[in-house]
Amino acid sequence: MRAAVLEAYGEPLAIETVDPPTLEPHGVVVDVEACGICRSDWHAWQGHGEWADDQVPLGQILGHEPAGRIARVGDRVDTLEAGDRVAIPFNLGEGSCYQCRNGHGNVCEDGYALGFESTVPGAFAERIHVPHAEFNVAPLPDSVSATEAAALGCRYVTAFHALSHRAEVGGGDWVAVHGCGGLGLAAVQIAAALGARVIAVDVRDEPLSMATTLGADATVNATEASVPEAIEEISERGAHVSIDALGRAETCRNSLDCLRIRGTHVQIGLTTDAERGEVALPIDEVTRWDVTVVGSRGMPPSRYDELLRMIEAGRLEPERLVTRRVALDDVSDRLAAMTDYETSGLEVVTEF
Ligand SMILES: [Zn+2]
Ligand SMILES: [Zn+2]
Repeated sequence: MRAAVLEAYGEPLAIETVDPPTLEPHGVVVDVEACGICRSDWHAWQGHGEWADDQVPLGQILGHEPAGRIARVGDRVDTLEAGDRVAIPFNLGEGSCYQCRNGHGNVCEDGYALGFESTVPGAFAERIHVPHAEFNVAPLPDSVSATEAAALGCRYVTAFHALSHRAEVGGGDWVAVHGCGGLGLAAVQIAAALGARVIAVDVRDEPLSMATTLGADATVNATEASVPEAIEEISERGAHVSIDALGRAETCRNSLDCLRIRGTHVQIGLTTDAERGEVALPIDEVTRWDVTVVGSRGMPPSRYDELLRMIEAGRLEPERLVTRRVALDDVSDRLAAMTDYETSGLEVVTEF
């Protein structure tokens, strides 16, 4: 089968013919119909992550935002069958540890990061193997297309989990979103659907106008204003919830500085090689004002149903974030375009 393989950091991915996946008794093999291209792929491609012992090994098939149709089912899998349409989370659990048993499979103690480690080759490929499939895959309603399910990717579900479960955004809350790439735009659409008033922040006008279309009440161009001051003025006392969807020292700091008393900062962007995972923060302010700082990554598979029901009901439309459909051979070019922030919204591979 064809697959895009990371042969050297920063060099174009090699489109190769590789062996198809081996089916484990607890797994399924899925025909990939669509897979999002994400800044996490870009980080992997750049060789980032060694500071968190998280560097992706050479030889890896990238791609972690797939949707498709089950082709083969392992002997111990009872509740899934060939032909089922599914979305697949990138952070897969093994289903039996303390975290998995308590509904937190996204942070499984012994989990797998699809497309980032050699035991789970990714979905820039015609087929993938999903281990512990009954625990991990999310069956799709007929009304949700493969492209739309791929658009859920890691970004849309991460934004949903961050806002809905981690920050517990309430109706009428002011939510600031710092960085309007795919992750930030997803957060804008979801926060608006949850009843929040949304302030979108970026340094480029194009994603800010997309944010407005997706439900932002106000936008701040960070090249033209002091971001915390602008947000405090718009929201009167600062944001109830603020999300750093980019992961740079400046966006992280702005996100904390724009909060109101007892506000919540959520970190969902991963840092670059400028920060290497370390950002200086005004920690005494966190103490003084009862501020909450939380991290969030992916979403437990057991909670996909909430998001899928909102999509079925027309309250959320991830497909509106899709700006480009490409072929497997184009992935390297699209990763290169991310280096200079030349992409906007979500780009999805739909031809393999
Ligand atoms: Zn687990
Ligand atoms: Zn992703």
